[in-house]
Amino acid sequence: MSPPVPLVALLGNPNTGKTTLFNRLTSSNARVGNYPGITVDRTSARCRLDASQVIELLDVPGCYSLTARSPEEQIAVQTLLDGPQLVVVVVDATNLIRNLYLVLQLAELAVPVVVALNMIDELTGSPPDTDALSAVLAVPVVPISARTKAGLGGLLKVIKHSLDRASAPLMLDYPAEIEEDLAALMPLLPDRWRGPKKRGMALWALMSVEEDDTLTGIPDALRAAVLDRQTADSDEAIIATRYAFLDASIPSPASVRRPLSDRIDSVLLHPVAGFGVFVVLMLAMFQSLFSWADPMIGLVEGAVSVLSGLAVRVLPEGLLTDLVVEGVIGGVGNVIVFLPQILLLFFFIGLMEDSGYMARAAHLMDRVMKALGLQGRAFVPMLSGFACAVPAVMATRTMARHRDRMLTMMVIPLMTCSARLPVYTLLIAALFPPREDGMPLAALIMMALYVFSTAVALVAAWVLGKTVLRGQHEPLLMELPPMRLPTPISTLRLMWQRGRVFLSEAGSVILICTLALWALLSFPQLPEPAAGSPEAEVAAWQAEQLEGSYAGQLGHAIEPVIAPLGFDWKMGVGLIGAFAAREVFVSTMGLVYGVGGEVDEESPPLREKLAAERRPDGSPTYTPLVGISLMVFFALACQCMSTLAAVKRETGGYRWPTFLFFYMTALAWVFSFAIYQGGQLMGWG
Ligand code: GDP
Ligand code: MG
Repeated sequence: MSPPVPLVALLGNPNTGKTTLFNRLTSSNARVGNYPGITVDRTSARCRLDASQVIELLDVPGCYSLTARSPEEQIAVQTLLDGPQLVVVVVDATNLIRNLYLVLQLAELAVPVVVALNMIDELTGSPPDTDALSAVLAVPVVPISARTKAGLGGLLKVIKHSLDRASAPLMLDYPAEIEEDLAALMPLLPDRWRGPKKRGMALWALMSVEEDDTLTGIPDALRAAVLDRQTADSDEAIIATRYAFLDASIPSPASVRRPLSDRIDSVLLHPVAGFGVFVVLMLAMFQSLFSWADPMIGLVEGAVSVLSGLAVRVLPEGLLTDLVVEGVIGGVGNVIVFLPQILLLFFFIGLMEDSGYMARAAHLMDRVMKALGLQGRAFVPMLSGFACAVPAVMATRTMARHRDRMLTMMVIPLMTCSARLPVYTLLIAALFPPREDGMPLAALIMMALYVFSTAVALVAAWVLGKTVLRGQHEPLLMELPPMRLPTPISTLRLMWQRGRVFLSEAGSVILICTLALWALLSFPQLPEPAAGSPEAEVAAWQAEQLEGSYAGQLGHAIEPVIAPLGFDWKMGVGLIGAFAAREVFVSTMGLVYGVGGEVDEESPPLREKLAAERRPDGSPTYTPLVGISLMVFFALACQCMSTLAAVKRETGGYRWPTFLFFYMTALAWVFSFAIYQGGQLMGWG
């Protein structure tokens, strides 16, 4: 039997490079980003220290201190106490004192610690005196740079040597009142908190237990004693003592080399100039989404039509061929066409995250957020909602308060996720072709949709915070990381990972939905016209088949509800599919305009078919007004099973997902109604 693999946890303040180090040591590619709150899930992987020793390395979400108010924060502390054999604290060498606060807390709890002094590549002048640091804290300190890989070998050696080291608690001298409190609390601690860590745990309890905390497993006697002894000043006295210790004993930090970052920030954070930069960047991004992706989209379109042409030639004529060509290749192909654009979007988001720009954007928005009653921290998950709501909903785990978390979760799905991109692009390409005067109309509309959804999300948060989720606002400023040169490899990797999620969704959810809709559209089957019938007869048969199919009947059934929004029953069919996943709209429309038709390589792209579609009276079905109404519907409606499932998982019940579904969908209907009816009144219809 091989000995059990020792567990080593990576801990540290947010944004100190834990995940970067984790990836380096374990050759994984967990997500790195230059803003706090990226890692929400624990990830673990094997790491080889040398020929004979392997450890299990655990990347935990960052934290500033061990003080806890909620069960989630408490779990983090408990994991540290009973789990790992060693804790490697990643410390940002450019911000020593604040980072060492956490090390101090761990040392007081007698947790065996190794300090990895990260980001030494950003220091100038003489390197920090690690021996002095090490002596003060009584823990090994290893200078490293996770970015340049300097010092990593040394770190592994020190980890190996520290694995079996027992550690004595660090004892600070607290003011007399606090010492009295500690003496009174220690005998009341539960058994699992005794031993060398008992003084540290008494301090923890004194700071964490409060009138309205939601901690679990605190014995009643302990809770009563804490509440009885605690004064308004005890927290402050403890914190002040710790900082006084650090200030007095830590060698003065080396100077930091970041002149550029500071100069850039004076522009990026400027209330006016910063906002201008933000708008220009966004516009440039959306413009390049269209212009750069275009050639690639053409390539994918070409490949899909070659493939379906091949299938037509190889497979015998019949239902099976229809299924393969229309359902599988056509349906999924219509969605995959958007892969280039989605990859580009992820690439830009990745660059902005990795460079630290996202954190600046969040800061610009901070004042707005506060005014609307959202917690400052909410912006990070909301920004990740631009990629996909599912991880964004999970990212709300960094928020301690239930109310803040729920509020953020309820508005995240309003952010423009990448699944909306195919729908927007299709409609914009069909209805707003490039203009001769060169105005980037498509990019402007796209950006307007993003701005619109963000604005609605913020206002919705304000309304929900005043009604369903009433509560006080708790200010919390997100700390600003320095601007850094993004690491292209990790950006590309992130882009590919997210792209893969999109592809696998196209291969599963979207494929299944498309096939189901194909069946609904193909049955009941009308007898086909004889081969060689006149074209008009074939077209009439096609129309009849579509209208009489189960899906057609469904579309007709919901027509009274959607007609006031400007949608016909064919769009209704698309909307039904889209409630599973938004992209299904695109593949369904492909089916609606393809099923029963001649299957050949020559059929024009979907956007041209949409643009050519006519109402019975001969007017175009897809007017710009209908297109806007439809896009606004997609911006607001809750059309994503995966998001609802994620919200159910995170909230542990059906209440919040049900609420989410109905409020968003009602909002979508009302907005689309107002836009379409209003537009018609103004004569734009
Ligand atoms: P975490 O929040 O602690 O997991 O931190 P991340 O690993 O996500 O890294 C935060 C940011 O710091 C990213 O932009 C990294 O590229 C950057 N970073 C990480 N390690 C180093 C380092 O050693 N030197 C420098 N200059 N930057 C680093
Ligand atoms: Mg991380």
